[in-house]
Amino acid sequence: MTIREQLEAREEEYLSPYATLSRRSRGREREEAQCDIRPVFQRDRDRILHCKSFRRLKQKTQVFLLPKGDHYRTRLTHTLEVSQNARTIAKALRLNEDLVEAIALGHDLGHTPFGHAGEKALNRVYHFSHNVQSLRVVERVEKQGRGLNLTWEVRDGILNHKTAGNPHTLEGKVLRLSDKIAYINHDMDDAIRGGILTEEDIPAEIRGVLGNSCKERLNTMVHDVIINSMDQPEIRMSERVEKAMQELRRFMFDNVYLNPKAKGEEDKAVHMIEQLFEYYVKHLELLPQQYLDAMSDPDNSREQIVCDYIAGMTDSYAVKKFEEFFVPESWKI
Ligand code: MG
Repeated sequence: MTIREQLEAREEEYLSPYATLSRRSRGREREEAQCDIRPVFQRDRDRILHCKSFRRLKQKTQVFLLPKGDHYRTRLTHTLEVSQNARTIAKALRLNEDLVEAIALGHDLGHTPFGHAGEKALNRVYHFSHNVQSLRVVERVEKQGRGLNLTWEVRDGILNHKTAGNPHTLEGKVLRLSDKIAYINHDMDDAIRGGILTEEDIPAEIRGVLGNSCKERLNTMVHDVIINSMDQPEIRMSERVEKAMQELRRFMFDNVYLNPKAKGEEDKAVHMIEQLFEYYVKHLELLPQQYLDAMSDPDNSREQIVCDYIAGMTDSYAVKKFEEFFVPESWKI
């Protein structure tokens, strides 16, 4: 018996009857030989961690554009916090931690530079949403266009991670909820750090249910998911905590995500991404070879390929390209 087979057997003995077993995976896009050490989802997690798109997350905005402080979240630290929440929940519920972690590390790979401003811009000039793009990255963009050849369960979790999505595995559902729990709490923490809000601005009814600090609220939400989902074929929260969490999310939308102080630079970012898109569509020859090669596939429109390229840019690379195309040499600082 190989080490992988031993690990798979251990999953069958130990995990919840509702967990997704590595041995029962629906498989990869293209069949390939199994690893002798790692079960499939562990291997997928490693593939995502080693890919270039993952490393670029460190220079992509979470909410606050080009933050000046060192302690604001980036898309990378958001991803790691999502992964931590999701693994805590999955471990407690005896679900497949490797699957949850693989989905977590991959879920935002398709996020644009400048957070939702970038997404809005690409959606205006082309149809774009970051969850679909994350799937495109792992299937069609990474590894010079060959993709990472991940399992069906990981791809399903990545595609369906947004609020309206409906993942087919409990691990995917854990991830979807953990993403929301993570961003509500850390975006609030960053908003307080940035002086946009104070703890006391959060309505007392919400704090009465969830707690009086980011730490307390995170703890309440994670506990609530675990207690209410234990030995159940679904992932859910109590009505009381879920309602308070939705109210906190609405409060965040009104006071942080749409706050002019936080979002003052957003219109400039939208404009910049739109300009870059139009410029590249007219000057396809400026794209790297991999993207030019992808154009020979009749399924890929030139707009789609330009979207792939721009969505993959870090904030700083997008600014650099914008300066290169639109700012005369002598005016660059
Ligand atoms: Mg996310």
